Amino acid sequence: MRPFTYTGAKNTAEALQAASSNANAHYLGGGTNLIDLMKEDVERPDELIEVASLDYKKITSNENGGLTLGGMLNNSETANHRDIRTHYPLLSMAMLSAATGQLRNMATNGGNLLQRTRCPYFYETSMPCNKRVPGTGCGAIKGMNALHAIFGWSEDCVAVHPSDMCVALAAIGAKVEVRHPNGSSRMVEFTDFHRLPGDRPEKDSNLLPGELITGIHLPKPIFSAHYYYLKVRERSSYAFALVSVAAGLQIQGGMITKAGLAMGGVAHKPWKLVQAENYLAGKMPNQANFEAASELAMNEARPLEGNKYKVEMGKKSIVSALTQAYERKA
Ligand SMILES: Cc1cc2nc3c(=O)[nH]c(=O)nc-3n(C[C@H](O)[C@H](O)[C@H](O)COP(=O)(O)OP(=O)(O)OC[C@H]3O[C@@H](n4cnc5c(N)ncnc54)[C@H](O)[C@@H]3O)c2cc1C
Ligand code: SF4
Repeated sequence: MRPFTYTGAKNTAEALQAASSNANAHYLGGGTNLIDLMKEDVERPDELIEVASLDYKKITSNENGGLTLGGMLNNSETANHRDIRTHYPLLSMAMLSAATGQLRNMATNGGNLLQRTRCPYFYETSMPCNKRVPGTGCGAIKGMNALHAIFGWSEDCVAVHPSDMCVALAAIGAKVEVRHPNGSSRMVEFTDFHRLPGDRPEKDSNLLPGELITGIHLPKPIFSAHYYYLKVRERSSYAFALVSVAAGLQIQGGMITKAGLAMGGVAHKPWKLVQAENYLAGKMPNQANFEAASELAMNEARPLEGNKYKVEMGKKSIVSALTQAYERKA
């Protein structure tokens, strides 16, 4: 591991100031991803600015009738919070499917959004990887790509975003609150927070240099009765999703009035299924409509040599998640 300086920021101003004065500094949340990457020599910051202890650790009401999650609150406290379990059970279910209890106790909400891909070539420093070292090529595109993207990939990178929490946030329609080193705040729509790889795969998000995640704003809850997070993985613990689906349905008078649907394990960002959501609104919650929505969702899939299985798995997972969301008793 390379040497680095540790800066324990006492407050937000100190953290932002430290970040603005060193372009090679990284914020440190729980460290469950960043420290691993530093040990593997994949990430090489020369300064860590500790932010996990900053005062963004609460869940509060927001102006939209929803809740705001503190950016430094850990994943366990968020997922197990009574209000999250009651009003946003889809988020709770997705978060509790991730990693293990110990990791969730350490991982912060801000760090979860910015965790990096699990592409094996990204971790192996003897292999080419445009995300790790821009311009070296993509080892996965013609190599082992069973775990990689079927949507939105580019010739430069076919990696997927690994977070479960983010899939639920995309389905729910969250916003991310960030602070710029100049002190200003802005709100980013969740669908615009992460990016597709294009020809800059080294950039995972649309954050500006030094921006700090301080909160995640959830809209007024509408999927608290009918929801399901389905995660297909190789083993039931300590495994990332091959494919996952977050499904929320608002049902009134026997009809779907609104659907929230997103997939994980299929793209460089949490993949919101807008066409399928629009299709379902105003329809009856039945097998035929769920199947039609899944066909629409997977229409634009472009699988790679090793991950063709994800197309059929994706369709079946969407139908299954919608069915279980519908049948769930509040
Ligand atoms: C064995 C193992 C299994 C796992 N399984 C899963 C799984 O199944 N599903 C899943 O979703 N995740 C899984 N994870 C990943 C885990 O969820 C992430 O490592 C964790 O969420 C990252 O949060 P952190 O606070 O530790 O981030 P850190 O490691 O501290 O930071 C991650 C990145 O975020 C940046 N950062 C941190 N906080 C902020 C902030 N407030 N503002 C701006 N930038 C910030 C850091 O600079 C760094 O670049 C697993 C991890 C491990 C080690
Ligand atoms: S898919 Fe992306 S992360 Fe994986 S080797 Fe290619 S460039 Fe690197």
